[in-house]
Amino acid sequence: MRWSQFYLYTTREVPNDAEVVSHQLMMRAGMIRKAAAGIYTYLPLGWRSIMKMMDIVRREMDAAGAVELMMPAIHPAELWQETERWDAFGDLLLKIKDRNQRDFCFGPTHEEVVTDVVRRDVRSYRQLPLNLYQIQNKFRDEIRPRFGLMRAREFLMKDAYSFHAGADSLGETYEAMRAAYCRVFEDCRLEYSLVEAQSGTIGGSASHEFMVLAETGEDAVVSCPACGYAANVEKAEARPLAAAAAAGDQEELTEVSTPGATTISEVTDQLQVGADRLVKTLVYETEEGPVLALVRGDRDLNEAKLASYLGAQRLTMAGDEVVRRVTGAPVGFAGPVGLSPEIRRVGDQSIRQSSNFVVGANKADAHFTGVNWGRDVDLSEWTDLLLVTGGDGCPRCDGTLELHRGIEVGHIFKLGTKYSEAMECTYLDDQGKSHPMTMGCYGLGIGRTVAAAIEQNHDEDGIIWPLPLAPYEVLVIALNTRDEQVVELADRLYDQLQEQGSEVLYDDRDERPGVKFKDADLIGIPVRLVIGAKSLAGGQVEVSLRRDREKILVPIENAVERVLELLAG
Ligand code: ATP
Ligand code: MG
Repeated sequence: MRWSQFYLYTTREVPNDAEVVSHQLMMRAGMIRKAAAGIYTYLPLGWRSIMKMMDIVRREMDAAGAVELMMPAIHPAELWQETERWDAFGDLLLKIKDRNQRDFCFGPTHEEVVTDVVRRDVRSYRQLPLNLYQIQNKFRDEIRPRFGLMRAREFLMKDAYSFHAGADSLGETYEAMRAAYCRVFEDCRLEYSLVEAQSGTIGGSASHEFMVLAETGEDAVVSCPACGYAANVEKAEARPLAAAAAAGDQEELTEVSTPGATTISEVTDQLQVGADRLVKTLVYETEEGPVLALVRGDRDLNEAKLASYLGAQRLTMAGDEVVRRVTGAPVGFAGPVGLSPEIRRVGDQSIRQSSNFVVGANKADAHFTGVNWGRDVDLSEWTDLLLVTGGDGCPRCDGTLELHRGIEVGHIFKLGTKYSEAMECTYLDDQGKSHPMTMGCYGLGIGRTVAAAIEQNHDEDGIIWPLPLAPYEVLVIALNTRDEQVVELADRLYDQLQEQGSEVLYDDRDERPGVKFKDADLIGIPVRLVIGAKSLAGGQVEVSLRRDREKILVPIENAVERVLELLAG
């Protein structure tokens, strides 16, 4: 492709809403253009990398035995009502009406549609297992679309759904898909890790995420260097914590004055105790009413664990008004002592052995010290609510967990029968008995993975494409397009490389060398071939790799061969 005939406009300006480097570089390199928050045009250069990514995914999905189809972007409300996700999906679901005022949504995921397809065609265990996939635009009305293609509202996803007669068959396909995902991310030359994950609103029993480790990742993962245990912090477990406060004789329950102490550090300062001696009481609202959750004062509560323990579809931190109604006190002074037993309360298991601890007194400017379970507080529900962090003990061995940030590029789930039961997607076994199909689902973000590849492969001057995702393999630069000899040779080498099957972008623009080199660094094409008057005089051209930019002078007649060698290596 001749640059002069292509559609590629780079810019020096960094848009001020572009917080992460992949977003900045994709904008500057003329790969994407924002139409609205989280909604982008893939410009021709960007689209080429996206298509490469889709090709890799398609190849691995086909090799894993999945079958491609294409489902609609717009879904009728009735299907989402069958699974009750029309409401449960919340504001992420973009709802629309047609001219007859019928309800539709823009599909954020396709469990409902694919299950509706399969329940109409499949009757017998003999037709199973099945694995269907598509690469398609999703829409999720994300609260904070940001980071360009990484958290967009409209974005391309590869989503696959498998259907089985029983859990063993699902297990086999799940393994095959896990292996296929590993090959995809290896093919992209990405450094990634596979972590245990929370199933979230999709539901189901087991799930794993593929994380590209990067400072700018929105997810936090912990891993144990000793045994390899790795999990998203939403899901991670840790070895039980030491109890808050030393065991010993029970102290007296005492109300103490703590004027204005609404934060943990204010309470610990005023009472001169460590934060691990405090038990904090958090008030949440759920669709079943308010719930109190208790966790050690120096630690955070994991809301995903609480929601999944409660089976709550909606879980939000209660506002001032609800806190006052439930506890009778302003925010900051909630505690479990003396509250109506009607209010559900759940304790994190790591404070179960605690004694003589401090809690809010349910009135302004007061706390209790010397609090003990049983005598002062009746708590019957205990579960793991801890948000695990770096330095916690590994739950599988005696190692210590490390904390990293990651970008979730893929997520695979064992769904079980949640959707097939709700939608009556059944099969007959060899005895003629009917069962709901067991399902799996497998998502992979196309744009997010390309963005993650840039996060891992760039320098201060621009992108350094891993060859498999590069929009072009070779950039031929004619340094002075007013020099006929230069143009003649550059044209010839461009033609020859194309004949050899290379994907070549040819910078034939009438621009200064400085501009061409800056653009070359920015768009990051892996191999560069520069033709200028100076080297030409010596019968040579310059070949280099974007990765190290080390220039090699090559005799003109060997230039094509040298470029092909570099591409092969
Ligand atoms: P997240 O936790 O990041 O919101 P998710 O868990 O909701 O993602 P899934 O439903 O598992 O995402 O979707 C499968 C894949 O689709 C993700 O692993 C990710 O690569 C991609 N993806 C999800 N949401 C977005 C988005 N807003 N923009 C770009 N890609 C996305
Ligand atoms: Mg996910």
